[in-house]
Amino acid sequence: MNTCFDALIVGGGLVGASLALALARQGRQVALIEGQQPPLTGLDRPDDWDPRVYAISPANQAFLQGLHAWPDASRLGVVAGMDVRGDRHGRIAFHAADAGQPALAWIAENRWLLAALWQQLADSPAQCIAGVRPTAISQHPRHVSLTLDDGRSLNTRLLIGADGANSWVRQQTGIRVDVSPYGHSGVVANFVAERDHGNIARQWFLGDGILAWLPLPGQRISMVWSTAKPEALTALDAASLCDTVAQAGGRELGGFSLLTPAHAFPLRLMRPDSVVAPRIALVGDAAHTVHPLAGQGVNLGFGDAHALAALLAEHGGDPGEWLLLRRYQRMRREAVNTMQLTCDGLFKLFHTQDPLLGWLRNTGLSLTQHLPLIKRQLARQAIGF
Ligand SMILES: Cc1cc2nc3c(=O)[nH]c(=O)nc-3n(C[C@H](O)[C@H](O)[C@H](O)COP(=O)(O)OP(=O)(O)OC[C@H]3O[C@@H](n4cnc5c(N)ncnc54)[C@H](O)[C@@H]3O)c2cc1C
Repeated sequence: MNTCFDALIVGGGLVGASLALALARQGRQVALIEGQQPPLTGLDRPDDWDPRVYAISPANQAFLQGLHAWPDASRLGVVAGMDVRGDRHGRIAFHAADAGQPALAWIAENRWLLAALWQQLADSPAQCIAGVRPTAISQHPRHVSLTLDDGRSLNTRLLIGADGANSWVRQQTGIRVDVSPYGHSGVVANFVAERDHGNIARQWFLGDGILAWLPLPGQRISMVWSTAKPEALTALDAASLCDTVAQAGGRELGGFSLLTPAHAFPLRLMRPDSVVAPRIALVGDAAHTVHPLAGQGVNLGFGDAHALAALLAEHGGDPGEWLLLRRYQRMRREAVNTMQLTCDGLFKLFHTQDPLLGWLRNTGLSLTQHLPLIKRQLARQAIGF
C-alpha cells in the first residue's frame, strides 16, 4: 500500500520550500516535488551576488529565522529608511525609527535563501523529489493521487500548488484566473556605488517607469526598474548601463560599476477566483502576483506558507478538510487583496497622463511628508504591522 502523505507540495521555490520545512518540523509527513535540480550550492561564492533580491519584512524574517534559513549580516542589506520621489518634485521619506523599529526590511538574495532552505530540508524528514514533474492529478473523497513523469504515483490528503505564476496545479483545478499584464518588465541588476547608500532604499516614480535602488552590504545596491522598454537597458554594455542607472537616480550615489548583469522579468497582476479546491490549496505566486513596486510578492507568499502551517498545527487532524481550506482562503484574502489593490493603484496613478492627477500624486506625497501620524502609519505598513 502506497504511503498517503499529509501534504504534497509541487514547487520548491522559496514559498514551497519554506512551507515543506515548516510542516516537516511539525511532524507532518511531507513530500516536495521540484521540477529543477535543488540549488544546494552557491553559498560558497562570496563575490557572486544574485540579481534577484527580496525586501523581506520583519514578520517574514522571524518566520525564516525560525526555520534556520536566515543569511548572516555579510549577505544582508538593511533598509533603515525609504526615500520616495514623484515625477514632479513630490517626495516622502520615512524611517524604521518612525515605527520604533530597527529596520523596515532586510534585502536578501533569492539564491542564498533557497540554498539555505534546501539545506535545512536535506536534514529534515521531508521527502524531497527533484528533477521530476507531475503529469496527472486524480481527486478522491479522502485523498489526491499525483502521477509523476518518472512513472511514480503518490497519494496525499492535501495537495499544495507552490509552482509559481504559471501554476500547473492551478490549471488542473480549472480555477479561473484574471490576468492583467502591466506592459512593463522588471529589470534587475546589481552595482557598486561610488558613495555610501546609508541603508536607505530609494525609489523614483519616473513617469514612464519606476526605479528602485535597494541597499546591499557595503556600497553595493540592487536595482529594480519597472519599464515598458526593458531591452533599452538589457542591451546596453556594462559602462552604458551603469551610466544610465546612475543618471536616472540623479547620481545621488555618484557613479556605478556593474556587479551583476541585467535580467528582465515580465510583470502582470494575477488574481485567481479561488485559492482552494477540494483537497488542494495554492500558495505564493500560484495564488497571486503583484507589481514589485512595494517589494511584497514573496512576502505575501511567505505569509501564505506561515498561515497554512499555523492552521494545520492548530487543527492537528485531516489537513485536507474543506472547512480548514476555506479558513485558509479567508485568512489570506484581506492581506492579498489590499496589497494587490495598493500596488496596482499606485502603478496606475503614476502612469496616467492626466495633468490634474499628475499634480495630485506629487502634492499628495509632499503633504504626507509633513504629517507625522500618517508617516508613522506608512512606516508600520512597510514593516507589515
Ligand atoms: C522583477 C521582480 C522583482 C521582485 N522583487 C520582489 C521583492 O523585492 N520582494 C518580494 O517580496 N517579491 C518580489 N518579487 C516577487 C517574487 O519574485 C515572487 O513573489 C516569488 O519568487 C514567488 O515565489 P514562489 O515560490 O511562489 O514561486 P517561484 O519562485 O516561481 O517558484 C516556483 C517553483 O516551482 C517550480 N515548478 C514550476 N512548475 C513546476 C512543476 N510543474 N512541477 C514541479 N516544479 C515546478 C519551479 O521550478 C520553481 O522552483 C519580484 C518579482 C519580480 C518579477
